[in-house]
Amino acid sequence: MKKSVRLPVHVKPERYKIMLRPDLENFTFSGEETIYLVLEKAAKEITLHSVDLEILSAEWIHKSKEVWAGKVAYDLKTETAIFSFPKLLEKGKGQLKLTFKGILNDKMRGFYKSKYTLDGVDKHLAVTQFESTDARRAFPCFDEPSQKAIFDVTLMIPANTVAISNTMESNISEHESGYKIVEFEPTPKMSTYLLAFIVGEFEYIEGNRQQATGNKSLVRVFTTPGKKEQASFALDVSIKCLDFYEDYFGIDYPLPVLDMIAIPDFAAGAMENWGAVTYRESTLLVDTEKSSAANKQWVAMVIAHELAHQWFGNLVTMEWWTHLWLNEGFASFIEYLAIDHIFPKWEIWTQFVAGELGTALALDSLANTHPIEVTVNHPAEISEIFDKVSYAKGASVLRMLWKYLGEKAFQKGLQHYLKKHAYSNAKTEDLWKALEEVSGKPVGKIMANWTAKPGHPLISVKLKVKNLPAGRQGEKLELRQSRFFSSPISKRKSKDKTLWNIPITVRGETRKGFLMDKKSLYVNVTHTRYGLKMNVGESSFVRVDYPQKLLKELEGAVKNGKLSAPDRLGLIRDSFDLAQSGDSLTTLALELALSYLGEEDYTVWAQLTGHLSQLDSLFSDEPFYGQFKAYGRKVYSGIVRKMGWEKKAGEKPTNVLLRGMVLYKLGSFGDKDIIKKAQTIYNETVSSGKSIDPDLRGVVYNLVAENGGKVEWNKLVSMYKQEDNQQEKDRIGRALGLFKSKPLLKKTLEFSISKDVRYQSALGIITSVWGNPNGRYLAWEFVKKNWELLKERYAGGHYFTRVFSPAGEFTKISDAKDIEKFVAKNPIPEAKRTIAQALEQIYSNAQWLKRDRTGIKRFLSKDV
Ligand SMILES: [Zn+2]
Repeated sequence: MKKSVRLPVHVKPERYKIMLRPDLENFTFSGEETIYLVLEKAAKEITLHSVDLEILSAEWIHKSKEVWAGKVAYDLKTETAIFSFPKLLEKGKGQLKLTFKGILNDKMRGFYKSKYTLDGVDKHLAVTQFESTDARRAFPCFDEPSQKAIFDVTLMIPANTVAISNTMESNISEHESGYKIVEFEPTPKMSTYLLAFIVGEFEYIEGNRQQATGNKSLVRVFTTPGKKEQASFALDVSIKCLDFYEDYFGIDYPLPVLDMIAIPDFAAGAMENWGAVTYRESTLLVDTEKSSAANKQWVAMVIAHELAHQWFGNLVTMEWWTHLWLNEGFASFIEYLAIDHIFPKWEIWTQFVAGELGTALALDSLANTHPIEVTVNHPAEISEIFDKVSYAKGASVLRMLWKYLGEKAFQKGLQHYLKKHAYSNAKTEDLWKALEEVSGKPVGKIMANWTAKPGHPLISVKLKVKNLPAGRQGEKLELRQSRFFSSPISKRKSKDKTLWNIPITVRGETRKGFLMDKKSLYVNVTHTRYGLKMNVGESSFVRVDYPQKLLKELEGAVKNGKLSAPDRLGLIRDSFDLAQSGDSLTTLALELALSYLGEEDYTVWAQLTGHLSQLDSLFSDEPFYGQFKAYGRKVYSGIVRKMGWEKKAGEKPTNVLLRGMVLYKLGSFGDKDIIKKAQTIYNETVSSGKSIDPDLRGVVYNLVAENGGKVEWNKLVSMYKQEDNQQEKDRIGRALGLFKSKPLLKKTLEFSISKDVRYQSALGIITSVWGNPNGRYLAWEFVKKNWELLKERYAGGHYFTRVFSPAGEFTKISDAKDIEKFVAKNPIPEAKRTIAQALEQIYSNAQWLKRDRTGIKRFLSKDV
């Protein structure tokens, strides 16, 4: 049993008055705070969270008149400070007054500094990132989501800067020291992890909104000087999102102001601080010349996600981190609803099926996945669950429930839930209860194993002949459910007998829906020439294994356009994943993929591309690798011919995304014309300074790097250094990982940790090298060699686990052994699961090749 790290429950904060003074020259800060407390029983001491703070004084104000000086002791393990006083503290109200100081760190957590350069001059700003457990690094506090309180924030700042916090500034005055004192209106009752303080030189644009209640609310987007023109897309999207959510949730945005701030150094994508949402520059700013359609879509999605949190997460907060998925799964689901409303042509729900559902299924197929709800105690365990299971599987099971209950009932249930728990906390069961009350369906019972158990089911379909009146084709299907594992080794070891309540549909002549709550089930269906598609629209979180006869019919349906995009996607996804798991053959999936040559949907191509990229990495050391590349060219050449390099008037917005993706894949599979064209476009820009269409920049840079040498490397690096736009920097950084030459890849790795690359961007470059078959061993050796540096920079945060995510691309057992040996010597608590997942994948890869190698070789040599 692990010891609980939660604070004693008999002391409750009601209000904090906090004053912080950041020093942007010496990178320190000092602070004072008074916490208004209620003691539910007499106490000898008070325990608060506090890390890396030096507490200078502590006083207890007894009955608003007597002042008792206290002593402080620190417990580093539990990240707390314990205050003791000469007399017993009586039951009832009291005030704890503290002074303290700390350091503005460079680790992108707690209260930290960020740097940018303006006209050749280095500038600094101070900013916070508190989720999950880092408010305790800025001020001693009850740093748990259920310890909600009101915060009165005052920031004392240099005269040339501005201060941003969760609410509107109420008063600005001058201090004799030359500093400005900025006081903010009290916050609503809220959790510590949602507080924010930002101090620096900013400019902003703003827009006004009229709420249903007649209130006005102000939306502002802040950038460092010179970038506010890039904020208008974000302002527009955020206003539309707020309108949508107010209407959908039936509750007005509760604060008078929403500020959104672009921060040059930021670990996550964005953070939903109530009323003061912080973003990476690349997730908030849109530059008309440099941002691609994909960049723009990503910005819109991130904004929709963070703004959903203003209700789901901020107004109603998870009771403890075990219920993190309630925040993240929900926001990751509802952002699609908002974006579908604002940008209906983006076909964003189809994109969900490859994006969220596809990635969630992949991760959740490992034995080393975890249940959506997981008991967590220590901060390292909390960091670990900010992963695809909490976000994407959470979103996927909510989408399944949304479809099952019906959109109206689902919305009503949410409104009921938010009203009932506003300004308070809730658990998963509370959400199910609210949905149950509105829909009358046993939501808690249906959802139990989806959130409490790891993994998800595979539905195996068997055909049983059924006699029907003459002239009609009838079938009796036998459906069986069992947990799906992508690794046959994991399957063999597993004793998992979980049964899920599966809302499932089948479309033959008609569409039928039912709830499968047993191990096996018989269904009567009448099917058409184009077969029977299970899990229509891929709305449930399951996979389907069809018998050959049905699969053949569905293949025909794909070719004849008789299936919807999500259904075509689901079919190819399951086919590749069943090959990986050993339930089917890789050659069958490769053959099925050839039925998709007429495909024109971006999302279906994205799914197929994901599988072919996985195989590309898996096969990279095999003698038949060249033949696989030829196969790849066969798959992509038709669609590339249709798409071409030029945008077409009136084409679907997703075609822009499709074009970039398929051009790159065809070039990457070695098509000489595509590579040449990419090099020509690139050379024209280098010689004449002509700007490249932002939607083609990724393709061009990647192919130039993949086929380039020293000259191209030097040029890309100098472009990286000169570039100020983060999206463009990310694009170039990724390309730097794609060279074939090992010495150049080594230089890329060194560059990633040089002063020219922000901490937030280094791991992206390292993982690009790691994902490159020519660079994977170099990247791993580099990580080992620079372990101390990486640990110093990233350990403890959510970001660190990413170092290991590409490790799963190794294919040899010796690689797994080497990683095991290294982590045994260098334990990383917050990356434990990520490493276990990578190891499971490597062992599975090795067996996959062993099992199917001969068949694949034969298939590829006959096919090409
Ligand atoms: Zn979120």
